[in-house]
Amino acid sequence: MPEELNPFEIAQRQLDEAAEILQLEPGIHALLREPMRELHITFPVKMDDGSVKVFRGFRVQYNDARGPCKGGIRYHPEETIDTVRALAAWMTWKCALVDIPLGGGKGGVVVNPATLTDGEKERLCRAYIRSIWQMLGPLSDVPAPDMGTDAQMMGWMMDEYCRLRGEFLPGAITGKPLALGGSLGRATATGLGVAMHIREALRLLKIDPHSCRAAIQGFGNVGQSAALNLVGLGIKVVLISDVKGCIFNPEGLDISYLRSITDRYGVVDRDRLRDAEELPGSAWIEQEVEILMPAAVEGQVNGQTARKIKDTVKIIAEGANGPTTPEADEVLRQSDIYVIPDFLCNAGGVTVSYFEGVQNAYNYYWDLEEVHEKLDKKMTAAFHAVHEMAQKKKVHNRLAAYLVAVERVAVAMKLRGWV
Ligand code: NAD
Repeated sequence: MPEELNPFEIAQRQLDEAAEILQLEPGIHALLREPMRELHITFPVKMDDGSVKVFRGFRVQYNDARGPCKGGIRYHPEETIDTVRALAAWMTWKCALVDIPLGGGKGGVVVNPATLTDGEKERLCRAYIRSIWQMLGPLSDVPAPDMGTDAQMMGWMMDEYCRLRGEFLPGAITGKPLALGGSLGRATATGLGVAMHIREALRLLKIDPHSCRAAIQGFGNVGQSAALNLVGLGIKVVLISDVKGCIFNPEGLDISYLRSITDRYGVVDRDRLRDAEELPGSAWIEQEVEILMPAAVEGQVNGQTARKIKDTVKIIAEGANGPTTPEADEVLRQSDIYVIPDFLCNAGGVTVSYFEGVQNAYNYYWDLEEVHEKLDKKMTAAFHAVHEMAQKKKVHNRLAAYLVAVERVAVAMKLRGWV
C-alpha cells in the first residue's frame, strides 16, 4: 500500500492513476513523473558563537509548462529530497487546479529553526538565497513561506535577492510582510478559501448552513480563519482542537474570544477558557456534526479514525495537507460523505500568493475587497470544475481533482511542443 512508500512515490502513484484514466501520451506521462530541475546545495552560515555550521538544502522546479514555478521553502530537521520533490509535484497540480498561470516548485533546508537565534535565521535565509538565486525570479521560480519559515524570513530573502540582482524585484518572493509588498488578505486566505469550498458544497447538497455544526482539528493559521468564516456563513462551530486537546461547546464556541487567548503557535490558553469544556485530542473526529475539518497535520483521518466518523457528517473539508490516508479514503468512498480534497480545499493561500506577485509586477495594490472577490471567483470555479469532472468520469473528488489538474498541465506541455 502507498502508506509504506516515500512521499514522492505516493505522488508518482497518484499521477499514474490519473494518467491512465486520461490516457496521457507516454512522453507526457514520463516527463510528469519526474522534476524538470533540482538543485542540491551545501552552504556555510556563521553562528553567533563565531563557529561556522554547514547546512544542506534543495530547490526543486517540478514543472513550469504553465508558468513560473511556485512553492514554499521549508525549514525542517528531517527534510529529504523526496519530500521536497513530492511537495513540488503537488504544487504543480494545485496551481493548475485553481487555474493560476504558475508551475510547481518547492525548497527545503535541513534545519530545526527553533534552535536558531534571529541573527542566525537571517544569515541562513540570506545564505540559502545566495546559493539558489540564479534559478529564482518573478518569471522563473517564486518561493514563499512554508513549514518553519515566516513572513520576516521572506523579507530577508527578498532583500538578499534584490541586492544580488541590483533591482527592486519584490515579486521574486511572496508571503512577504505588507510593508514590503505583501498582499492584503494573504494571511487569512487559506482558511477563507476552505470556507468558500464548504459554502459551495452545502449549496450543491442543498443543505442550509444554519442547520450545520462543524468540528475543526487545528486552531492555527488555517483553523482560525476557517472557523471565523464558517461562523460568518451561519454555521455553528462546536469544537476546535489544538496540540493539547479539544475545546467543545454544543451550543457553539465564541471563536473571536478563543482567538484572543491563542498564541502564535495555535495553542489556546486553558486558564482563560470560558463557556467550553475540554475533551481529549481524539474527540474531534467522533462528533455529531455535519462538517469535519482536519486543519492540523497529515494522516489524522486514517483507517482506524475514519470508522469513528458519525452518520451526521455530510462534508469533510481537508484544510490540512495530506490529512487522509489511502486506507481512510477507501472507507470514505463507501460512505455518502462529500470530501473536498486538500489541494483543492486549501488552495486559497497559493492563490493570494499569486495575487501578491501580480500586484508586485504592477506596483499597484488592491484593497481587501478586491482580493476576496478575486479569490472567491478562483475557488468557486475550481470547486465546480472538480465536481463536474467527478460526475463525468464517475470518480471520487480526489481523483477528479487530479484529472482536472494533470490534464491542464499536459495540454500546456503539448501546446509548447515538448512532446
Ligand atoms: P499552524 O502551525 O498555524 O497551526 C497548526 C494547528 O494544529 C495548531 O493549533 C496546533 O496546535 C495544531 N496541531 C499540531 N499538531 C497537532 C496534532 N498532532 N493534533 C492536533 N492538533 C495539532 O499551521 P497552519 O498553517 O494552520 O497549517 C495547518 C495545515 O494546513 C498543515 O497541514 C499545512 O500544511 C496546511 N496548509 C496551510 C496553509 C497556510 O497558508 N498556512 C496553506 C495550505 C495548507
